[in-house]
Amino acid sequence: MRCDERRAERRRMVARQIAGRGVSDRRVLAALAAIPRHRFVPPSLADVAYDDAPLPVGSGQTISQPYMVALMTAALRLRRGDRVLEIGTGSGYQTAILAHLAGCVFTIERLAELAAGAERRVAALGLANVRYRVADGTLGWPEAAPFDAVLVTAATPDLPAPLLAQLAPLGRIAAPVGDLALQELIVGVREPRGLVTRAAGGCRFVPLVGRHGFPDAF
Ligand code: SAH
Repeated sequence: MRCDERRAERRRMVARQIAGRGVSDRRVLAALAAIPRHRFVPPSLADVAYDDAPLPVGSGQTISQPYMVALMTAALRLRRGDRVLEIGTGSGYQTAILAHLAGCVFTIERLAELAAGAERRVAALGLANVRYRVADGTLGWPEAAPFDAVLVTAATPDLPAPLLAQLAPLGRIAAPVGDLALQELIVGVREPRGLVTRAAGGCRFVPLVGRHGFPDAF
């Protein structure tokens, strides 16, 4: 994938915000340098698309801060053939990063208007290895399981049980776990002896709303 628009801005973003803060996985750095983030934000925000911040993408949702996208992606240790489940398609930016690095991405979004926009933007980049679903992602995608990696990009009170059940042996999962105000990025690996988790830093995401997430009204 090659995109020349705003390339210098992207390189600066990767050097300062991502590599500069300790993310060293070369494939992840290359993916963030390749995917044009400005195409995933509203046109009026294109000039700040490479800033060190989350941005609104409509329907009350946000595109995550680039550093957080890089940190979560690196935690998944993706290989080229991996099958990845993503919960919270949003703008589709993180989806595009995953599709660039893995074999096949299954992504679920609860808001149809966001899913449609994401599908259009990801397809426009020539990334055809993505399947989309509009549904409650806390239930996962059982027919496509097991997954080598699962990424939740919305705040959840706990790691949703169906997602853990759909994780392959040695599969990785990353999710912001906590309350509505603040979460900790939890990274888990399904080892033979069970799920082994570590905390990878504080974060703040919009809520995961669903059966195994937060209730609809809060
Ligand atoms: N990864 C996105 C950011 C997503 S913000 C990006 O790069 O732009 C979180 C998204 O999760 C929102 O779009 C929200 O609508 C969605 N979401 C919240 N609860 C969900 C659920 N139960 N299933 C699927 N998507 C959900």
